Amino acid sequence: MTPEELLTEADRCVKCGLCLPECPTYRLLAHEADSPRGRISLMQALAAGEIAPGTGIEIHLDRCLGCRSCETACPSGVRYGLLLDASRNLIAKRKPGGSGLRWLLTQMSEPKRLALISRIYRPFRRSKIARWATTLLPQRYKRLPELGRQLAGTPSLPAGLYPADQPKGRLVQLFVGCVASQVEQSLLESGLALLRKLGYAVEIPQTQCCCGAMHRHNGAVQQAERYCETNRKQTAKSRAQALITLASACELELREQQASNLPVVSISDLLLTQLDGKNPPLKPYPGRVAVHLPCSSRDDGGLALLKRIPQAEIIPLAENGVCCGAAGSYLLTQPELSKRLGKAKIEKLLASGADILITSNTGCSLQFRQLLEEAGLETRVMHPAELIHQQWPD
Ligand code: SF4
Ligand code: SF4
Repeated sequence: MTPEELLTEADRCVKCGLCLPECPTYRLLAHEADSPRGRISLMQALAAGEIAPGTGIEIHLDRCLGCRSCETACPSGVRYGLLLDASRNLIAKRKPGGSGLRWLLTQMSEPKRLALISRIYRPFRRSKIARWATTLLPQRYKRLPELGRQLAGTPSLPAGLYPADQPKGRLVQLFVGCVASQVEQSLLESGLALLRKLGYAVEIPQTQCCCGAMHRHNGAVQQAERYCETNRKQTAKSRAQALITLASACELELREQQASNLPVVSISDLLLTQLDGKNPPLKPYPGRVAVHLPCSSRDDGGLALLKRIPQAEIIPLAENGVCCGAAGSYLLTQPELSKRLGKAKIEKLLASGADILITSNTGCSLQFRQLLEEAGLETRVMHPAELIHQQWPD
């Protein structure tokens, strides 16, 4: 998006303010510059050259979650997410090397690099050295080691072709994701096992790469485009019927950027079409399960699928329209605001009496697991596919 295109899109905002009550940061900070309307005004001034990077605009754009709740509320159909990405890219161009942390995160969000970091950090993650090193870190870097405790340190699912349990001649490709490959081992194994049980052979190509969402939302648009192109090319060569995603943020990015030549299907949607309620007869789960809706998947989040589990009481988590504060890299770049939003969710979870919290997005899982551990709570955080796999008949 050029500055002129940015201005044209931003001019659709009539400054009515209907989006303000839906904005989590406006609700927390009660400041116009931390509202969608205020940020759009700042973006307009940036694109018009009236304000320059480094004059404070970044503070307010950085506090934006990118949750896009304002888009849903906007009667003028302003595409706020596009404006935010374009503005961050404009700032990165006009003031290269702006945020060290954002740069670090985009560099880390590459599967091989992340795997290496994970292998090196894993043995020290709960050691005194790690705790001591954490105390020396500047405040805004402190969540890196906290969240880094979830790094698995073991190889994710290796690339390859995994045969179906009962071959039916069907082939799908599984999108493993860069962060998920290091922190969601159980989800990856559950997803793969379920697909194979349903009669799908599963391919994970060597050339599959990150979806690029982390890069696009942090101003590294060119890098994000390179990842999209790589994924487009490798899916064009595939004979698979679909690209199956496990994380809703990756799914959204792949769809919106048309980064796949295969149809993009979430594993929850696939399971919903394949399980007819009685077949296979899932094991009962006599407990209460709260379902969190990630901002990247506000329609269902696996609710309909999980209702197929006998005896399980499936309830939506209260205030599901509000972001949990994970928001991609936000949980690292804005630790204080992110934790405030996350802790509000943990309170809702406790009030619900649920013993499992479901989310279909990796960032939200990271956020919830860390905050639950910090609070000394043992509520399990699972993806819908993990719970379905757990309840699959023996
Ligand atoms: S994306 Fe979310 S945090 Fe950002 S302005 Fe819109 S509602 Fe507010
Ligand atoms: S973004 Fe939409 S809802 Fe918000 S002030 Fe502008 S026109 Fe109104």
